[in-house]
Amino acid sequence: MGETSMAEVPPDVRERVTRLVCDLVAIPSHGCEEQAVIRYLADRFARQGIPCRIGELDGTPINVIAEIGAGPRVLVLNSHHDTVPPGDPALWATDPLTPVVKDGKVFGRGAEDAKGCLAAMIVAFETLAARRETLPVRVVLMAVGGEERGGLGTKIEAVRGLRADAAIVGESTGLVPLIAHKGVLRLEVEVTGKAAHASDPEAGINAIVAMAPIVSALDGLAAEIRRRAEAYTGRASLVISSIGGGVALNVIPARCVISIDRRVLPTETEADANREIVETVTRALPLGAGARVEVRRVRFVPPSITDAASPIVAAAEEAATAVLGKSVRAAGFTATCDMTYLVNDAKIPTIILGPDSIELAHQANECISIEQMALAVEVYLKTIEAWTRRV
Ligand SMILES: [Zn+2]
Repeated sequence: MGETSMAEVPPDVRERVTRLVCDLVAIPSHGCEEQAVIRYLADRFARQGIPCRIGELDGTPINVIAEIGAGPRVLVLNSHHDTVPPGDPALWATDPLTPVVKDGKVFGRGAEDAKGCLAAMIVAFETLAARRETLPVRVVLMAVGGEERGGLGTKIEAVRGLRADAAIVGESTGLVPLIAHKGVLRLEVEVTGKAAHASDPEAGINAIVAMAPIVSALDGLAAEIRRRAEAYTGRASLVISSIGGGVALNVIPARCVISIDRRVLPTETEADANREIVETVTRALPLGAGARVEVRRVRFVPPSITDAASPIVAAAEEAATAVLGKSVRAAGFTATCDMTYLVNDAKIPTIILGPDSIELAHQANECISIEQMALAVEVYLKTIEAWTRRV
């Protein structure tokens, strides 16, 4: 198949998406400070006569959920309105909470993660809303909060019975549909020994010394885990990400704790990942020294994968190929995101799809390409159109 040229994006789409992302960046929405951006979005939909409700978590508004169209089929557009904090302003060339348009980009905290993605989704959604009487499916726009605090907004909707036939999560993917992501298992390993004065080592049990062979053994396991791979998400991993122990320079340490970050493939289970770590740790604990060891689960976010044969995958591949003028095939995501709740809790075939690359997320001088946002609007619209034809 020959290469075709990139689609022409109407200039008004470029303007609408730029204005919207600037509005969103100008409203700080980090930490738990999400009420102003929620009000902005709810007012915006109300002005256009788009039915919308506010989803609450423990009595506090967290999500804005708008819906258009009719019929039994439902497609969800999901992206988050919260951001990470701006960080040290000295590291920024511009004020992180004042949107600046420069060199075809919008700069500011959240411009890329995920206000640029959300803006593109909303412009696509509002384009459909303008002709909603002819829409043969229902389209639900979820602007969720608490994403940077563990996916709270999406999780609460999924647990409360969100149902749909397909979903798109708006995160930066370079406009390539991603259909799988890894999970993450966070554990703590604690070795308990016995404190004593450092001048009398035999009276104590040194927890740091007992932890040493455990660290080595886990590093050996990490090398073995690194050899496992899955087609979309790549290689599994295990990293010892922190260590702590000891209370003073002259005391035998009674306690030593390490943290483990284990990235789990869609082909692996939490139980298997946990079991091999516990076995490795237990085997490595020095015998006869009197130290005890405990492995604790801190958090688990399950991996997820959508069947490559799902209509939403084919629709997004077709749309991105048409808009970008080159063959686009589904790939995988290396981090975790709200897709996990949509797939694992709400059982919705889901893809991740959005403008620009994720490299600048959470960093100083975060920015989003206006061209990419405008193309994303077209890709979202064409994806919905192609999906509607398939279901
Ligand atoms: Zn994000």
